[in-house]
Amino acid sequence: MATRRISCLLSRTFSSSIFPRGRNSVFSRGTYNYSTAVSLEEPINPNVDIKFTRLFINGQFVDAASGKTFPTLDPRTGDVIANVAEGDAEDINRAVSAARKAFDEGPWPRMTAYERSKILLRFADLLEKHNDEIAALETWDNGKPYEQSAKVEIPMLTRLFRYYAGWADKIHGLTAPADGPYHVQTLHEPIGVAGQIIPWNFPLLMFAWKVGPALACGNTIVLKTAEQTPLSALYVSSLFHEAGLPAGVLNVVSGFGPTAGAALASHMKVDKLAFTGSTETGKAVLQLAAKSNLKPVTLELGGKSPFIICEDADVDKAVEMAHFALFFNQGQCCCAGSRTFVHERIYDEFVEKAKARAAKRIVGDPFKNGVEQGPQVDCDQFKKILNYIRSGIESGATLETGGERLGNKGYYIQPTVFSDVKDDMLIAKDEIFGPVQSILKFKDLNEVIQRANDTRYGLAAGIFTQNLDTANTLTRVLRAGSVWINCFDVFDAAIPFGGYKMSGHGREKGIYSLSNYLQVKAVITALKNPTWL
Ligand code: ADP
Repeated sequence: MATRRISCLLSRTFSSSIFPRGRNSVFSRGTYNYSTAVSLEEPINPNVDIKFTRLFINGQFVDAASGKTFPTLDPRTGDVIANVAEGDAEDINRAVSAARKAFDEGPWPRMTAYERSKILLRFADLLEKHNDEIAALETWDNGKPYEQSAKVEIPMLTRLFRYYAGWADKIHGLTAPADGPYHVQTLHEPIGVAGQIIPWNFPLLMFAWKVGPALACGNTIVLKTAEQTPLSALYVSSLFHEAGLPAGVLNVVSGFGPTAGAALASHMKVDKLAFTGSTETGKAVLQLAAKSNLKPVTLELGGKSPFIICEDADVDKAVEMAHFALFFNQGQCCCAGSRTFVHERIYDEFVEKAKARAAKRIVGDPFKNGVEQGPQVDCDQFKKILNYIRSGIESGATLETGGERLGNKGYYIQPTVFSDVKDDMLIAKDEIFGPVQSILKFKDLNEVIQRANDTRYGLAAGIFTQNLDTANTLTRVLRAGSVWINCFDVFDAAIPFGGYKMSGHGREKGIYSLSNYLQVKAVITALKNPTWL
């Protein structure tokens, strides 16, 4: 392993200009309940070889055309894990040419849907076989707890590919009536070359949400990984190759947003774009798509999701669920329950217990068993979060616990809880994307409905109540793509995910994702002998 360290200089002055761009998505279920303390010692050796660092284009691992590489860093230390080929516009061109040829001339869209489904199933079997190795790569590159990668995320990835393998041979059109002597049918056809740009917070899950449905529908793909986390997608590309995916069907380019990402979004030969990332970058890629060939775009963007705890809630359960809703994945979830609204009657008790729970959270080397929280993904995120914490303090919120860096290397942050948070504070408005819980007090349902919806985002919402009528009412009036009642972050292959308002366009997962990757062709045939009808 290389030992070069990239320095991370903490900004000491608070500046709103470094307030940032948001982040992305997630899933999971269940909570961890550990009680032993973990200290930050020497990093544990992940015990996994880095086998793939080059771009995957046309079924082969190749260097970037420029020969350039960039370092991918260990969030535990800032040390270099590996140098990875840095794709740019020329590599995107090569990848799009390969995907174009595979779509226009290759076997993938032409083979039977059953054959396609068998390849996806073989890939899922290989994921299962290499589960732990893939999980180690994911944790090393991203910093998330290994137990989360190995027991939740990679198995979920396998599940998603099996789910979409099941869809491959069940995609078909309809017949439709017409006011005239016509036979009308619809054909559901693959859309062509799909461009996909993914973030770093769930590198392989975001890969699966996009690649699974695109392949099931018979498309070919050029996918750009996030610059912070290139390793796991390259590894699984090799498994696709082993599973028998024809060359050129899936191309994976590592590289940066303004170069490789922008080239993909604006490419004239890409037929569709799917993006997950910040709302700012989402706007940029939408413009690039519009200014180039008007390719359709699906966007999964930021959030500032309310988690509403009503007066009849079981406080202990609500504290645990609200804690999970915010702190899961180091708080790096686009759908994090990042505005914890608590009814005034239980507010004081809730704050005391939320503070105690956060103070008990086990932060440490993500490869250590029992660790609940690893480091933030990189120095930029780390600085951004600490600046938001400073903003919370300066704007008058009460810092109940945390608020500081943990240790003296890597990007660890103490689990942080603010109470007395007001709607107009930045920590209540912006996506922090870190382990910072903001607790707000409310008096009645009308008030909390208005405040919960008073945001530019609309990705998710949580409700904690035992009253069916309250749950039903809130569910209907909250403007969000997912509503979790007495639970949070429950994800499954068949459950759609996506946002209202500036949280995005379209839905991923489930049956809804298929329409992102299909064209509908209406076929109208004149009937020769209409009098027989
Ligand atoms: P974050 O702030 O979480 O890094 P971004 O939205 O910037 O979120 O990044 C998500 C993905 O978008 C990454 O793969 C990144 O490289 C890519 N990206 C960033 N800027 C651009 C851009 N101008 N055009 C296309 N893709 C971009």
